[in-house]
Amino acid sequence: MIQQQTKTDLRNLTQQKLVEYVQSLGQPAFRGKQILPWLYRPGTIDFSAMTDLAKEFRKTLEENAFISSFSNPLLQKAADGCVKFGFPLDDGNIVESVLIPEPDRNTLCISSQVGCAMKCAFCLTGTMGFTRNLRVAEIVNQVCSVRDYLLKQPKETLIGPDRVTNVVFMGMGEPLNNFTNVIDALSLLTEQKGLDLTTRKLTVSTCGIVPKLRELGEKTSINLAISLHSVKNEVRSSLMPVNKKYPVEMLLAACRDFPMPKRKRIMFEYTLLEGINDSLDDAKILAKKLRGIPCKINLLSYNACPQLPYKSPNREKILAFQKVLLDAHYTVFIRTSRGADISAACGQLATEKSGLEMA
Ligand code: SF4
Repeated sequence: MIQQQTKTDLRNLTQQKLVEYVQSLGQPAFRGKQILPWLYRPGTIDFSAMTDLAKEFRKTLEENAFISSFSNPLLQKAADGCVKFGFPLDDGNIVESVLIPEPDRNTLCISSQVGCAMKCAFCLTGTMGFTRNLRVAEIVNQVCSVRDYLLKQPKETLIGPDRVTNVVFMGMGEPLNNFTNVIDALSLLTEQKGLDLTTRKLTVSTCGIVPKLRELGEKTSINLAISLHSVKNEVRSSLMPVNKKYPVEMLLAACRDFPMPKRKRIMFEYTLLEGINDSLDDAKILAKKLRGIPCKINLLSYNACPQLPYKSPNREKILAFQKVLLDAHYTVFIRTSRGADISAACGQLATEKSGLEMA
């Protein structure tokens, strides 16, 4: 470990940074592009396996660099097939990801930070406080590790495909508060010689860090999800302190200004909390305020937990809320909660070591 601290983790580097890195070692630029596919092959890779690289160069890499991986994740499986992964980090922290399998896809919900500074009142991660940003490698290694896990499972036990098809940044942390590392990780996730995921299947969810939204849209073409939960400033500020800095009007103006292709839609996430944001009046105001924004709306029933005081409204109330939005011609989904029995559902990630077991 001490030796590794003085070496460069190649999984922290985008293709461009890899090229610059090999040049700093006195090597031609093409060597950087040559290494990239090796770094993201399934399984543990060491430099001796990179047989198309000159022996001398492999020796230089061994002396100066390493390839990190999350090799021993802690696991917890839910009754509905969701799997929560806990990845021990080299500083003793644990970061979590959740695999949500469906017959035609495997969605992996990944984390961008250890803890979160945003203190959303309904979110367990928010109660942990902020510890640190994840490095690029720690973001992409969540995907690599779950990909390797899926490849090792007997095919007949899988609910979905044997690979990660979709990635959502909806785990621990606010991705736009770790902007540079998230952008670099997105570049590796979509790089053909990296993890080769299509941008259509990548979603970044934010609580509304307004100054970063436009830059996100300019630098990537991923899907944007906004944790909205209310369009009444008083209610939203009580649920999400970020709203005091970037109120609803500012956030929705940034959404209107978000650069995206015509066919794309912003996904507004709206968690229904009984007696707080679930009235028909709330639905009508929501319909009015979102007018003109190309969007879809995800209604989420709240995953109650003993640590927080909120409850989900009943099914009838959720359907009535949805009807107001449907009548206003929005596309509205009611999202079924997955993995709630292992605290893997939305807003429930808070590094509870208990329950997680060795893979
Ligand atoms: S909802 Fe997201 S932004 Fe808010 S505290 Fe939880 S992890 Fe942070």
